[in-house]
Amino acid sequence: MFDDLIKPNIKAMKAYTIEAPPCSIRLDANESPYGFPLGRFSIPTNRYPDPEALSLRKILAAKWGVKPECILHGNGSDELIYYLLIAVGGPVLIPTPTFAMYRIIADSLSERTHMVPLDGQFDLDTKAMLAAIKEHNPKLIFLSRPNNPTGNSFTRERAIEIIEHAGGLVVLDEAYQQFATQGVSNPRRKGDSFIELLPRYRNLLVMRTLSKIGLAALRLGFAIGDKSLIEAINKVRLPYNVSSLSQTAAIEILRDEASIDRSIQSIVTERGRLFAELSRLNGIEAYHSEANFILFKLKADNRLTADDLHKRLIANDILIKKLSGGGQNNPLDNCFRVTVGMPTENTAFITSIRKIIEETHK
Ligand SMILES: *Cc1c(COP(=O)(O)O)cnc(C)c1O
Repeated sequence: MFDDLIKPNIKAMKAYTIEAPPCSIRLDANESPYGFPLGRFSIPTNRYPDPEALSLRKILAAKWGVKPECILHGNGSDELIYYLLIAVGGPVLIPTPTFAMYRIIADSLSERTHMVPLDGQFDLDTKAMLAAIKEHNPKLIFLSRPNNPTGNSFTRERAIEIIEHAGGLVVLDEAYQQFATQGVSNPRRKGDSFIELLPRYRNLLVMRTLSKIGLAALRLGFAIGDKSLIEAINKVRLPYNVSSLSQTAAIEILRDEASIDRSIQSIVTERGRLFAELSRLNGIEAYHSEANFILFKLKADNRLTADDLHKRLIANDILIKKLSGGGQNNPLDNCFRVTVGMPTENTAFITSIRKIIEETHK
């Protein structure tokens, strides 16, 4: 009935649905298993939130060693991807497989996208990326580092090479940076963020989110970059995009940095155990991860189908993410992404999948 009203590019899109069978062990959405207690705080419910979220931005600016003017706040980093695509637009260059929202938002705004497959190690294919930069002259390039859903961090030098050759903006989406461990020369830096490269590259923008470290309910994401760039993107931001509740709660929780760090440490330790256990299973290949989840694949010799495994885990009250391959020879065919949960949840998952595999191969 609304066929004539809806724009053709929107009609052509598939709705992004989030499947959620009612399982009690939920390892499907890269959430932290650890939430944080909130005290009672009073909020003037009749007033709009601080449109600039200044107190919160100041706290994060100090933490990241940048000026508050270099930070833009979003209702989750998803919203910032939206703003970027509105303010900058395409063509957009996206290495795949990666986070789906870059493509979905670009499609919804009718911006042209070019996909470049990652190499066999899920690393950036520098040669192909540089060729695509030359051919399409993209205004936006999205690099998720560590990458969702593959879990690895693209080689730092390769990402830098792309930044140096790009005429447009390169967005380093560091949603999982706190879980990364590769190339840590200074242990206090906890991972190798690209924030420190911001003074060197004006076409670099770093994105962070609080969603993966236990504050997903608040919907808070941030873009960090050149002051004049942040000011330009800020023009398309909706004035009251982050609620007072979220701002106040985040400020309170961020005060207890030690608790957040402990939860991250626990997830990193459990990730090591989960990886070792998964690698030991027959017919499964687990991929090295620097994020809070692990990608694994049912190998061709496995008698179990991906659908079967997914359903049987759900029957055991455990939900993980089945990735859709979408066509032959897709690198994500027969792949799953499992979020690292609490130790008890990880043990339940491992016990369950081991049993399912043993039963199939009897
Ligand atoms: C989860 C995720 C996000 C989304 O973050 P929000 O702040 O919750 O919108 C952004 N980028 C990547 C790569 C993610 O995996």
